[in-house]
Amino acid sequence: MTDLLALPKAELHLHLEGAIRADTAAELAARHGVPAPPTGPFAGLGDFVVAYERARDLIGSLEDLHRVARELVEDAAAQGVVWTEVHLIPRRMPAGWVRGRPCWRRFWTGCAPGPRLSPRRVSSSG
Ligand SMILES: [Zn+2]
Repeated sequence: MTDLLALPKAELHLHLEGAIRADTAAELAARHGVPAPPTGPFAGLGDFVVAYERARDLIGSLEDLHRVARELVEDAAAQGVVWTEVHLIPRRMPAGWVRGRPCWRRFWTGCAPGPRLSPRRVSSSG
């Protein structure tokens, strides 16, 4: 039987905010004094969007953004992802620290490759 984790994969439309780890979301929620967003399964798209928006709203600082971005890359590498097209919705993030090109610059700073990050390519569409 083929080991699916060993096969190379591509993520063609991955929302950063939707890829936040459940334990990271719980930690950030506790820090912000709000309930952690549900992790599913969801009854429908509406419930998913509510959970997504609650997770998105937990990213309240550049440090949070860097952490979520770094963990996204770590998780992708662990799953054999060799190409990731990450999407952000900067207009939903706090004004002043995430806008347009500066947003991407800050995002990539958080994704700076380290010894545990090994995807061969990460695109910047969005
Ligand atoms: Zn989308």
